[in-house]
Amino acid sequence: MSTTRTLRTDVAIVGGGIVGSSAALALRRMGLDVVLLERDLCGSRSSGVNYGGVRRQGRPLSQLPLAQRAHRIWGRLGELIGTEGEYQRSGHFKIGRSEDDMAALERYRASVRDAGFDLGLELVTGARLREHCPWLGARALGGSLCIEDGQANPRLVSPAFALAAQRAGARVFERHRVDEVAHDGTLFRLCATHAEGTLEVRSPVLLNCAGAWSGPIATHFGEAVPLQSGHPAMAVTEPLPFFMDWSLGVEGGGIYCRQVARGNLVLGGGAGIGLDAERARSERDAIATLSTQAIELLPRLAHAHFIRTWSGTEGYLPDRQPVLGPSRTTPGLFHGFGFAGAGFQIGPAAGEVLAELARDGRSTTPIEAFAIERFFPDTRAERPAEAAASASH
Ligand SMILES: Cc1cc2nc3c(=O)[nH]c(=O)nc-3n(C[C@H](O)[C@H](O)[C@H](O)COP(=O)(O)OP(=O)(O)OC[C@H]3O[C@@H](n4cnc5c(N)ncnc54)[C@H](O)[C@@H]3O)c2cc1C
Repeated sequence: MSTTRTLRTDVAIVGGGIVGSSAALALRRMGLDVVLLERDLCGSRSSGVNYGGVRRQGRPLSQLPLAQRAHRIWGRLGELIGTEGEYQRSGHFKIGRSEDDMAALERYRASVRDAGFDLGLELVTGARLREHCPWLGARALGGSLCIEDGQANPRLVSPAFALAAQRAGARVFERHRVDEVAHDGTLFRLCATHAEGTLEVRSPVLLNCAGAWSGPIATHFGEAVPLQSGHPAMAVTEPLPFFMDWSLGVEGGGIYCRQVARGNLVLGGGAGIGLDAERARSERDAIATLSTQAIELLPRLAHAHFIRTWSGTEGYLPDRQPVLGPSRTTPGLFHGFGFAGAGFQIGPAAGEVLAELARDGRSTTPIEAFAIERFFPDTRAERPAEAAASASH
């Protein structure tokens, strides 16, 4: 029998990825009542299927306050969510394969230092490089090491944020897809369908944390942004004898690689394909390219087998910066989406920022660079014509 149930809460959250779940946990720690609606399982999308890089190095300066805040959260992960999630500050090494790459790494290090951030970046070249990483292929001239960056298992960490929020008292509803959202000038009304019927949630505050699927909610409130989906290609090898602590990237982008304690190497690079709006997979050509690059980077992978390939669906905005902050049209609405291929590390800080916005209307971390206004430079904020009308998406 189909049922309709109505709940009232202080803050409603759409999306149980690392951003929405972190926000739910932070809100509960502030003592606010929270309802989180996730159409699938929490942490089952981008947040649970990513490469697992937990790095600050290489981020634009505008993201570093958020990344530094996240770094502090990651440092007390076990205490916060009840598991370490295989998180290790193993070091992140960004490889330079030309003198130009090395100059770019040096420029980045100087710009970070001049802006007052302490990432402890260290350039490693020549004999020191060969001594510290004899496993690196000959094309590597050197690189930049951020010794406190690292890696974690996204399949463990991201669901654990939602579980921790639930233990702290958040009402978390999985397999509840929000397919109607409305605002009557005071309260949001969300309708989520599930196997037994409909859950209606009423709340003065709404956090839009629906990842690559956040566009329809923003559009409904008159904020259509050019959000597109991306699908990084991923692969993992059979276990090999452990040889490499550092998580590797390359200057200018491309392949990235880490080895987990069990010996498997997790690799990413290039693009997979979207099968439909929700599913994606790695694509054959991307995996072939990844294999060639991987062997060049790490010759001892020459005979390793991939045992699995996969991808995920992630939201990208044209400037590759997220939208994080208040709606320009609708009081009480806050967006947190579009983290591109780099939201796992900063996700927990984005969640805390959203919780601060929900409670105080402002955040202690600078987020101006992520304002939704940047997509509406010449227009004044316009309220949607019929704010109380429902939208399906
Ligand atoms: C393959 C891959 C590799 C990556 N590698 C890294 C990396 O190494 N390091 C890094 O920092 N970042 C990485 N990223 C990026 C990172 O995973 C994301 O930026 C981050 O997880 C985004 O979190 P989120 O909570 O915004 O989104 P998601 O995890 O996508 O969560 C959004 C949730 O909203 C739910 N939802 C959507 N619509 C609705 C609806 N209508 N009703 C209810 N629920 C809804 C979805 O089911 C989903 O669970 C990678 C991403 C991918 C795909």
